[in-house]
Amino acid sequence: MAITIQQKVYDLIVYAQKNLGVDKKDSLYYYNRVLSMIGAQGTTEKLKKRRISDTNPDNVMKPLLEFAKQNGSDNGDSEKFSADILSLLSLRPSEIDRRFHAEGRRHGYEKAMNDLHAYGIANDYVKASAIARNIKWVSKDGLVITINLSKPEKDNKQIAKLLTAVKTGYPACQLCAENIGYCSGNTVRQTLRWANITLDGQKWFWQFSPYAYFYQHGIAVNYNHVPMNLTDRTVPRLFDFVDQFPFYFLGSNAALPRVGGSILNHDHYQGGKEVLPMQKADARKSLGVTDGVEVQILDWYNSAVRLQSADRKAIEKLAWKLSCAWENYDNAQLDIISHTDGERHNIFAPIARKHGDTYILDIIFRNNRVSEEYPDGIFHAHKQYHNIKSEGIGLIEAMGLFVLPARLDRQLKEVEGYLCGEPYDRTSLASDMRIHGDMIDKLLADNGNSNTPEHAKAVVRAYVDDVCKNILYNTAVFKPDEQGQTAFEQFLDSALK
Ligand SMILES: [Zn+2]
Repeated sequence: MAITIQQKVYDLIVYAQKNLGVDKKDSLYYYNRVLSMIGAQGTTEKLKKRRISDTNPDNVMKPLLEFAKQNGSDNGDSEKFSADILSLLSLRPSEIDRRFHAEGRRHGYEKAMNDLHAYGIANDYVKASAIARNIKWVSKDGLVITINLSKPEKDNKQIAKLLTAVKTGYPACQLCAENIGYCSGNTVRQTLRWANITLDGQKWFWQFSPYAYFYQHGIAVNYNHVPMNLTDRTVPRLFDFVDQFPFYFLGSNAALPRVGGSILNHDHYQGGKEVLPMQKADARKSLGVTDGVEVQILDWYNSAVRLQSADRKAIEKLAWKLSCAWENYDNAQLDIISHTDGERHNIFAPIARKHGDTYILDIIFRNNRVSEEYPDGIFHAHKQYHNIKSEGIGLIEAMGLFVLPARLDRQLKEVEGYLCGEPYDRTSLASDMRIHGDMIDKLLADNGNSNTPEHAKAVVRAYVDDVCKNILYNTAVFKPDEQGQTAFEQFLDSALK
């Protein structure tokens, strides 16, 4: 006998009891609420409490969403409708925050974070199945390359709706606290839940990313809509965070356009429970101990140093000293100009973590100046690599985890085809493939066109690996040659005095 829609709604309630904290005594209430939301009638049939082992709602929600779509109850917006149901079944933000801190005090904050993350997956704020679709590999140089397939692309109807939506200026941006529970146009935040935290005496909150780039990837967000800014309070805030959550790293994007993240108008930091490639890099050169802090130049593609000490205040002071020195550092021979017409170009990205009692601060030096030759940025991915990546290289990528656009999945497969004998004529490439002409010519010249599919895939990936490595070299303000490294050491010597 076919399973009735009522039984499927009941399955969702059983799922919500297990994963979302729905009280058994409220089950009947929620069952009836969901029935009416999807436009279904009740039944006299006896419903069974079936075993639901899922930890994300995809399977239990699917038949309900299909039912609602057929009778129009979802108003043609399945994403919003799904979030409406799952937010109804989720605990309120205050209850989540209370649970988080009670759990943290009782069983430690690692358990509290694990539970908050699992909750985000269970109520579908964190898109676990979509994230699992991302393509990911590690290059021979230790870079992590991902092709991000998790973010759904909007169809024309949705885009048209967004364009005609009235802009109210509320919330002021997509990170603002005012997003919680809100749903309008591009913003579907009914199921967003976060943990309130205190950084340097200020109100902040921690939320997980719906489309994570790495394990337990999340952001710490200032409760107030204030712009990103590197000040002498930035590193103390990062250390406050890793003191409370020593199993995470937390870093701040460089707070200038072209070298930072995409959202500069709301202060936030990125972190998570993974060791990124740069954090595994050893010292290229140790500069000894300054003011109780061990200073190393990292053996890394761009210009980075590591500060280590058991004394966090000593690192905070030294980092600020470096920031002030870097802000005004000029070296025309290396194209490093600190200001043009009063506009600042030099900034750094600090990344904090702890190892036992030792505080570690990695710092990546950046410069965002443009020139006639490099209108997108002198220290930005150069033009010959834009077929792979043209977007800004933010914190996570500067640390060696690349997030490449979804289009590459299809485009690189087409390139593999040519290496396996598909007829190739550069002049008749489809318009979106023309950017890859040089790459295809080179790969064919080096490898011919009678490769096995496995070999074709390997050489295409190796090409992408090299591009990513070269993009990191492009972002290096002090190049890894003798001239660059000598200047880097001279800068650090004088800054640390
Ligand atoms: Zn904001």
